[in-house]
Formats: sequence, structure tokens, C-alpha cells
Amino acid sequence: MQVVLLGPPGVGKGTQGRRLASEHGWALISTGEMLRDAIARRTPLGLEAGKLIDQGLLVPDAIMIGLVRERTLEPDARKGFVLDGFPRTVPQADALDAFLAERERQLDKVVALTAPDDELVRRLSGRWECPVCRRVYNAISAPSRDGRHCDDHPETALYQRADDTAETVRRRLEVYRKQTAPLGEYYRAQGKLQEVGGTGPLDEVYGALNSAVAR
Ligand code: AMP
Repeated sequence: MQVVLLGPPGVGKGTQGRRLASEHGWALISTGEMLRDAIARRTPLGLEAGKLIDQGLLVPDAIMIGLVRERTLEPDARKGFVLDGFPRTVPQADALDAFLAERERQLDKVVALTAPDDELVRRLSGRWECPVCRRVYNAISAPSRDGRHCDDHPETALYQRADDTAETVRRRLEVYRKQTAPLGEYYRAQGKLQEVGGTGPLDEVYGALNSAVAR
């Protein structure tokens, strides 16, 4: 099963995608996480991507397409994968269809998670992440037990993403609206799009997402 999670920054693609992938035994392929890892390791890709990410801009299509094309060939993705953060532009969506077709595979489901803008801004500005397990907390709505460390890794301090500052968040939402939102229509036209509300309790959102994927 090949699933794409669409939706604006902060809507919960990472949190819900991680659970969806792990419960079904699929690979979670998060392009944002791959890029942040490259930045931490100071690879040439990381150095180039870091500057763009800090400004809330997209990394060029050719780079992202190459990255995902390779990643989806890895053994853990054979049974299926959940894409979180890719595609983000129409050329990326075209390339994804094309390289899956070369392998006689296709996308099975595209689920768009939705939430109002003010909710996204509130979530992103309160977002704290565990660098070990990548679990995401929210200072207001879902804090960790002590508010500073991961519940599952009590020695590990949570950190805030550099691109979750107010100005960069605004830019990311703008970039999303211009470059990524048109993918809704793109997949609707292919008859693959399902929409799931991303607000409400995590378990309820997950239930709706899981049913959308099973449908
Ligand atoms: P995310 O963790 O998905 O919010 O991604 C963080 C940042 O990584 C984005 O704001 C972009 O700068 C970059 N990025 C992630 N995925 C892509 C993609 N598919 N195309 C271009 N840039 C991306």
C-alpha cells in the first residue's frame, strides 16, 4: 500500500503518519525529517537545504525527487510506505506517479488532513520534539509530563524546530497555499483524494485516517 499524507504544516502529518506506518508495518518516509537529518550530519545536501528550510522555502524539486525515488526503493518500503511531506509541488507529484509506474506500482490513497490556519499557527508555535524518537509534544495542548523532557526518554531534552518561529511559520503557510494546496485538486481529479479533519483528539483523527486508508 502506498499512501500520501497531504496537508499544511502543523496539521499532524508526522504524528499520524508515524502511527499509521507503524501499525501497518509500512515505512514512514518523512522528507522534512530526512532533510533535518542531513542538516545535523552536515552533508552537502544538508548545507544546501538548511538555508532554504530556515527561510520557510522549498528545496528544489530535482533534489527532492531524487531523494524520494531512492528512499522508496529501500527494503523497508517494499510492503508499503506513507509519504509525509512529499509531494509538495505538481512536478513532484508527476515524478512520483512516473517512478512508481516504472516499478509497476501506484499510489493507492491520498489523504488530506485539514485544520484552520489559526489552529496551525497555535500548534506550530507550541511544538516541541524529542530528538531521539521524534515524538511531538505541544506546550499547551499536549505537554510532556515535566514539560521539558520526553516521556519515553526522560534524559532527553525536547527541542523546538528552527523553522517553527512566527515569521517562518507564516512563510511556510503561504508557500503551502501557493505550491502545495493545488495538489488537492490534482489528486481529486485522479479520484484518489480523501479529506480527514485534523482537529479533535489524536485517537479520533487517527481512526478517521485509518478508515480513509482502508476504504
Ligand atoms: P516538514 O517537516 O515536512 O514541515 O518540512 C520542513 C521543510 O523541509 C519544509 O518547510 C521545506 O523547506 C523542506 N521540505 C520538506 N519536504 C519537502 C519537499 N517535498 N519539497 C521541498 N521542500 C521540502
